[in-house]
Amino acid sequence: MSTPAHRARLVLGLRSAGITDTRTLAAIERVPRELFVPDAFQDRAYEDTALPIGYGQTLSQPLVVATMIQALELGERDKLLEVGTGSGYHAAIQSHLCRRVYTIERHKPLLAEAHTRFGTLGLTNVVAMTGDGMKGWPEQAPFDRISVTAAGDAPPQALLDQLKVGGIMMMPVGGQSRVQQLVRYRRTEDAIEREAIMDVRFVPLLPGVADAPEA
Ligand code: SAH
Repeated sequence: MSTPAHRARLVLGLRSAGITDTRTLAAIERVPRELFVPDAFQDRAYEDTALPIGYGQTLSQPLVVATMIQALELGERDKLLEVGTGSGYHAAIQSHLCRRVYTIERHKPLLAEAHTRFGTLGLTNVVAMTGDGMKGWPEQAPFDRISVTAAGDAPPQALLDQLKVGGIMMMPVGGQSRVQQLVRYRRTEDAIEREAIMDVRFVPLLPGVADAPEA
């Protein structure tokens, strides 16, 4: 089966699993997932499963990526901050749905690989850097949307501060030994509203820039 056919089948599966937003599904159909998957897992690139990408990190399961993106309600004029570039797959999909994606990764080699993929795909509206995403990206703040793709006990205050009023932030919340919840935060004039979307399992959000791979 050719990759476009694989992608069409992936999208059909996501649709039957409850992803209804047509913009999200169309963006997923445009991104070749095999480009983001290590050679050893090429035959599993289109399974609805998380896959290892090295440095103890994982490329999220397509259904979780799709759920996160759908719940983020991305508009085409939005400026998005992503914390946890990983392979770059999630960022590549989002780049088709908003004005600009600013993405931060604490593992320099992963960022370099993702950066190469953005170039290969001609994605000119993705800006990527190595750094500690828990601090956000103050020079580019505020953001319409923020997507955190690693789990922490609570949303970092710096990120909430960099979210516009009316903005949405998605983040998996919880420790590594218990069930985490994917939470949608909406910033209003005077409060942060919180809504749990689904149970998930993500690698941890860690402070600082990595100098060695976590096992
Ligand atoms: N969205 C990715 C999957 C990310 S896995 C994809 O599509 O492939 C989570 C990533 O978050 C890992 O690569 C991990 O190194 C990174 N990460 C964890 N804490 C971080 C932090 N404080 N700043 C930036 N990246 C972080």
